[in-house]
Amino acid sequence: MINRSAPVVAVLSYPGLPDAPVRVDEAVWTRAQRTQRALQALGLCWAAAVAAVFLPVLHFVLVPALLLAGPIAALARYREARSLLGYEGVCPACSAALVERRALPSHEEVALRCDACGRGLVLRRTTAA
Ligand SMILES: [Zn+2]
Repeated sequence: MINRSAPVVAVLSYPGLPDAPVRVDEAVWTRAQRTQRALQALGLCWAAAVAAVFLPVLHFVLVPALLLAGPIAALARYREARSLLGYEGVCPACSAALVERRALPSHEEVALRCDACGRGLVLRRTTAA
C-alpha cells in the first residue's frame, strides 16, 4: 500500500521564463515499506547474479558486479523516504501539457526534459515537505 503525501506544491521552471505550477503525486514510505523495497532490490540483484552464472564469459564480470550492486541498490532504496510517482503540468517554455506517470526519487529539485520542445526543466518544490 502506498501512502500518498499531502498535495505537494511545486513548480516547473526554465531559466528566464516564469515558473509554471505543477501537480505532483508523491509516495511517502514507512520504515517497513522502505525495508521491503530494499529487500526487493537486493533479491532482484542477487537473483540476476545467480542467472548470470550461466552466461559464458559474461559471468566473470556480471556475477561480481551484481553481487556488489545488490547492497548498494538496497541501501539507496532504504534511504529513499519519498518517491515521485508522477506529475501534471504545463511546460513553462512551450506551454505543452506534461503528464508523467513514472516513479523517480523525490528530491527538492528534479531535472526533467519536456517531451514537446526538448528543453531541460527543473521540477522544484515550493513548500517544505
Ligand atoms: Zn516544452
